[in-house]
Amino acid sequence: MTSGDRETEATVRVDPRLCRGTGLCQAMSPALFRLTGAGHAEAVEARLTGPEALETARSVADCCPMGAVELTVGPSTGGPDRPER
Ligand code: SF4
Repeated sequence: MTSGDRETEATVRVDPRLCRGTGLCQAMSPALFRLTGAGHAEAVEARLTGPEALETARSVADCCPMGAVELTVGPSTGGPDRPER
């Protein structure tokens, strides 16, 4: 196993308390994010696999004006997640 292996899985979520429904995340990556009828965004799939998906999610997280996108890198442990941001 190399140190890069752990960078191929992540959990992504949107904090609905922070999200203002700008739609930027969906515009940047409709495959990963969508707006809900409740006026905020959500992840299409909570689990991400592959470096490309992680890089995209990281870019969206960096661009979200509210810091509402939480990315937890690493395999799912079944326990509480520790967000990267
Ligand atoms: S970019 Fe951020 S604030 Fe805008 S809809 Fe997505 S999560 Fe919400």
